[in-house]
Amino acid sequence: MVDENNVGWNFDNSYTHLPEMLFSEQEPTPVKSPSLVILNESLANSLGLDSESLRSDEGVSVFAGNQLPEGSKPIAQAYAGHQFGHFTMLGDGRAVLLGEQITPHGDRFDIQLKGSGRTPYSRGGDGRAVLGPMLREYIISEAMHALGIPSNRSLAVVTTGEPVIRETEKPGAILTRVSSSHIRVGTFQYVANQGAKDDLRTFADYTIERHYPGLKDADDPYLSLLEVVIKNQAFLISKWQLVGFIHGVMNTDNITISGESIDFGPCAFMNSYDPATVFSSIDREGRYAYGNQPKMAMWGLARFAESLLQLLHDDDDQAVEIAQNSLTKFKDWYHEYWLRGMRAKLGIFNEEDDDEKLFEELLKLMYKHEADFTNTFRALTYGQFEGINVCDTREFEQWHEKWQTRLDRQEQSDAESKELMRQNNPAVIPRNHKVEEALEAAEENGDYSVMDRLLAVLSSPYDHSIEQTEYTSPPPDSDRPYRTYCGT
Ligand code: AMP
Ligand code: MG
Repeated sequence: MVDENNVGWNFDNSYTHLPEMLFSEQEPTPVKSPSLVILNESLANSLGLDSESLRSDEGVSVFAGNQLPEGSKPIAQAYAGHQFGHFTMLGDGRAVLLGEQITPHGDRFDIQLKGSGRTPYSRGGDGRAVLGPMLREYIISEAMHALGIPSNRSLAVVTTGEPVIRETEKPGAILTRVSSSHIRVGTFQYVANQGAKDDLRTFADYTIERHYPGLKDADDPYLSLLEVVIKNQAFLISKWQLVGFIHGVMNTDNITISGESIDFGPCAFMNSYDPATVFSSIDREGRYAYGNQPKMAMWGLARFAESLLQLLHDDDDQAVEIAQNSLTKFKDWYHEYWLRGMRAKLGIFNEEDDDEKLFEELLKLMYKHEADFTNTFRALTYGQFEGINVCDTREFEQWHEKWQTRLDRQEQSDAESKELMRQNNPAVIPRNHKVEEALEAAEENGDYSVMDRLLAVLSSPYDHSIEQTEYTSPPPDSDRPYRTYCGT
């Protein structure tokens, strides 16, 4: 059954014109009794969708996969990926792409249901998702967006009225994800592995057209594609590092070509500063620890370069040389973006050679004194150091003096400096214990008010308002290792 489209769905399905190997036609599996638990109204508006109609029975049945919106040609996408270093065939095992919404501004966004039933890529899985993790993905993706970090977004969560079997029975749910595309490094790996050179070329051309149309006329569009993806990932990872975000599962199926963050399963924000921080329960060796993220992004990008080799040069050796040359640029780009971000966090407008040393000294002190990452920068922004342990030390005083002298050497005023800091140091991040509190209220008591308040606060992290204060404290027992899980 197709709805009557009072909602504003305006689908194109360009992905379905790609070589057949890249997807399987797949309708979502209907669910028993869907109920909308959260809708992102501002995102709906920007997509050209009418919130009131989305809340109607018809609107909700689309989010549940019980009804297809007009113009939808649902598919599951094929991809592969290195998971914790091991190559595997994957694909959307529990997701369906309804189509690409063309917004009133002419932008194109994938509308994907996650948790919508089995697909040909489900392997042993049930194709379903649990309410808690879907709400978690909603909260984190929206928080990332508000922090100014490229990210896919969340439009809605519905409960299905059906239980999902995990360690225990859990309430089933479906998340509607919105993304500039779901093309991953792993998608390129899949085509390079399974397809002919023509398939790879077709797919690379499609990707360029969709994400980087300006590159079509470049001397070598495929090399330019490789480099822009490397550059955008360098930017993205610098943004993660600058707010203390730990993705947790930087497998190549979770690295996008658009440069957006995707897949917020076992991720978390760091409390006290420690580069070795790991949150994911399945990452026992710390492969994706905070301090390893730049290195791991580069590892993933090397897999992307490998998958493009055939298009880079007819001679294998020369292709490898070209790819390696591009990969080495990651480090410099990342470093440049990180320095720029740290200068902004400390209110510095101009560049001096010793800036990096100043930043490293501060981080070293924060590490030594287990200082809370977000709150230390917040304290520096306000000049209020009460309760920030690192700031009580003589070492910090010396560092502070050095920093003040550095600020005095630039022409901008103190007020300008503080404003720059306010714009670059969030007052709030989605702290694990606050997220858990919201999920618990929702899951156990059907009370969504805690989550609504959390989302409201997280939607303007640079406001530095009174209401945010309650959300700024680290967990009561910050030594307690926090574990997040994926595959749920
Ligand atoms: P993720 O850890 O979410 O990146 O997922 C890795 C792979 O496992 C993807 O191909 C998912 O589609 C698949 N997957 C995760 N959970 C399920 C599930 N419950 N049923 C089927 N496939 C799943
Ligand atoms: Mg994934």
